[in-house]
Amino acid sequence: MGDGAPILEIKGITKQFGKLLAVNNVSLDIVDGEFFTIVGPSGSGKTTLLRMLAGLEKPSGGDVVLRGNVVNDVPANKRPTCMVFQSLALFNHRTVGQNIEFSLKMRGVSRAERKVRAMELMKTVRLPEDYYAKGVTKCSGGERQRVALARALASDPDIMFFDEPLSAIDYQLRKHLEVELKDLHRETGKTFMYITHSLEEAMVMSDRIGIMQAGHLIQVGTPDEIYSRPLNKFVSEFMGEVNTLGVKRSADGKFECAELSAQLAGPAQAGNSDTGYLVIRPESMRFLSDPSEADNHVKGSLFNEYAMGSRVQYHVRAGGYMLVVEKLREQAYQGKIDDDVIIGWDVKDSVLVSD
Ligand code: ATP
Repeated sequence: MGDGAPILEIKGITKQFGKLLAVNNVSLDIVDGEFFTIVGPSGSGKTTLLRMLAGLEKPSGGDVVLRGNVVNDVPANKRPTCMVFQSLALFNHRTVGQNIEFSLKMRGVSRAERKVRAMELMKTVRLPEDYYAKGVTKCSGGERQRVALARALASDPDIMFFDEPLSAIDYQLRKHLEVELKDLHRETGKTFMYITHSLEEAMVMSDRIGIMQAGHLIQVGTPDEIYSRPLNKFVSEFMGEVNTLGVKRSADGKFECAELSAQLAGPAQAGNSDTGYLVIRPESMRFLSDPSEADNHVKGSLFNEYAMGSRVQYHVRAGGYMLVVEKLREQAYQGKIDDDVIIGWDVKDSVLVSD
């Protein structure tokens, strides 16, 4: 990351479509050189926000400040930024080289110079040299993704905006490209702003993540902060499978959990609210041979188990709740379905969140 100075300041930005506030008073500073990802479910306003930052949409209120200058009225093609779309928007009847060189040609760069630069960029995005003359329609999905990246980099933008560029790509290749994109960010030192509905994807790549819900930016933090201290139930559940136990604080400081018919110990710094949710990640849950082995324990029965590569996930029925437990394969539970089991966790591995 850069020296901490914001390259982009988003100041109370709003976008209204008729009665709908698609983006509602969002403020955020983006640090020069960081990889910032906006995550949220469909319809939360991610694309609209990014389009306003890229100059493809005008804000209804607020300011977009780029390197100290308000750019609200500057059109996309006059900004030192560039957008990589989900659809990639490549010129299908052109070659890889012609696609990459497009912005250079527009700027009047000579044919020879363009080719040199295109070759350099193909190397950066790991496309073989002989792809220069290949038609883009003859490239695979992953290769087309690389062409789009090289084409975006060719205009040497200060900020690259990414609108779910990997969402149409199959899982294996997507995982691979996430790593490549993070490496590309490191190699180029540019500011990347990325949107996705997958918090998992955001976690892999980003320096910081912003969570959007119904037009609001509700939490901003490093992946670690978001993971370990989710703001509310929405954020915690957005991170994939977690145990979210509805609780009510009792007079002695313990938490009553009706679903489990249990009294649980929870974090002391638990905020002001007397009701909320204790969130415990599946990997923080343990199979106990004795209740005293953890701060909290719950009795249940093993409903099913699922092999997930290096991990095994278990569903344990306890009271009216299905607890999710995850273990490394070498620490797998040695037993069978329908076993009576005791599941436990420590207070330090739980977070109390609001609704
Ligand atoms: P997705 O992940 O599905 O792309 P998103 O978080 O990017 O969703 P947006 O595309 O920003 O969400 O849309 C936010 C809200 O604004 C949605 O309710 C959408 O229907 C609405 N919206 C977006 N663009 C327009 C438009 N041009 N006119 C009217 N409503 C719009």
